[in-house]
Amino acid sequence: MVRRVASSDALRVRFWGIRGSTCASGPQYVEFGSHTPCIEVRCGDRLFILDAGTGLSALGTELAASAPEKIDILLSHLHLDHISGLPFFKPALLAKDRVIRTYCGHLEGESAMEPLNRLFAPPLFPVRLGQLPARFEHHGFKAGEPLVLDDGTRIETHLLNHPGGATGFRISHRGRSICYISDVEHSDPWPDPSLADFVRGTDLMVFDGMFSDAEYSYCRGWGHSTWQKGVELAQSAGVKALAIFHLYPGHDDAFLKAAEAEMQAVMPTAFMARERQSFAFEPLEDDLDKDCPEPRAKAEEPRAVSMKDFAT
Ligand SMILES: [Zn+2]
Ligand SMILES: [Zn+2]
Repeated sequence: MVRRVASSDALRVRFWGIRGSTCASGPQYVEFGSHTPCIEVRCGDRLFILDAGTGLSALGTELAASAPEKIDILLSHLHLDHISGLPFFKPALLAKDRVIRTYCGHLEGESAMEPLNRLFAPPLFPVRLGQLPARFEHHGFKAGEPLVLDDGTRIETHLLNHPGGATGFRISHRGRSICYISDVEHSDPWPDPSLADFVRGTDLMVFDGMFSDAEYSYCRGWGHSTWQKGVELAQSAGVKALAIFHLYPGHDDAFLKAAEAEMQAVMPTAFMARERQSFAFEPLEDDLDKDCPEPRAKAEEPRAVSMKDFAT
């Protein structure tokens, strides 16, 4: 089998934690994985981390000493399943000159500093983040407003319907984009027009499809959606591929594979996210550097992403 190698300027995404609420463990959970939310996003060489669930510890082990000196972690919100990996992130333990910046948008502009310092302190946790070798910086912004980072990178954000609020992110690079929409409960009517505008035309939408429509009557108001609602949103907004995420820890491999087959009958480029699954979106020609003196190879035509784009 020939595997395409991503160019160095591709938008790349890798799942490190895909479960919601709590981890799953056991032989029936091997295919999809067990860690809580964490996604690695690379825009060329630039690293972003979406959420800091237990999957962050696995990403940290992979990065180890090769981690950049500045690391940006975009937090959807501060529920435990999205932050509990922070003190176990190896790059925070290895280098004194490393800066780890968190960005938090659902606290009316306040950063995550105070809640994180309250949680990661005795008697709840033996070590404070401030005692780790790396230096933590916590930044606040208001979900719904663009987040502009120190190097000028601009990330679009959206306030999501979730208890206490959560932030959705849209990261764009060279004409490609990924939208991270977790945690969210769908509205009635659905799709929500402003959320549809936010994700419109994206290459990949990661969506909180924790439950199925059949289960929803039992968990209404819990702040989560269904994979069927994810498909409805994706199809109404011209989303090219859909990753269902924040998977319910009680859903084993057999359940998820059956649900995935059902979903793909409706939307062939939809799938259930799997831990360590990765893929790359090559830059689009329109967005290449106009000042480049050498003629560039013609970029591929924009096209729908198919399952074969997803290497493990
Ligand atoms: Zn969650
Ligand atoms: Zn939550």
